[in-house]
Amino acid sequence: MKQCTHAEALPHPEPEPLADTCPECLRDGTHPVQLRLCLSCGHVGCCDSSPGQHATKHHKDSDHPIMRTHEPGENWRWCFVDHVLV
Ligand SMILES: [Zn+2]
Ligand SMILES: [Zn+2]
Ligand SMILES: [Zn+2]
Repeated sequence: MKQCTHAEALPHPEPEPLADTCPECLRDGTHPVQLRLCLSCGHVGCCDSSPGQHATKHHKDSDHPIMRTHEPGENWRWCFVDHVLV
């Protein structure tokens, strides 16, 4: 498996969430299924099961590599570049 080098380059402490829901869904009138937090900038976006897939779109627009779940009780991070949990 490919080694992810993006996690160690993330800012510490991790950025505060910029929103408490997906702002792009609010704008478009779609509904997030689950929320993801970008660990480079604090962008909040919706997951790939949501109609807008705004977390993935944020990665494509920004090249920010890693997001984590923004759901209560969950604790995992995903690298979009390497496609691995980190
Ligand atoms: Zn990575
Ligand atoms: Zn969204
Ligand atoms: Zn970001």
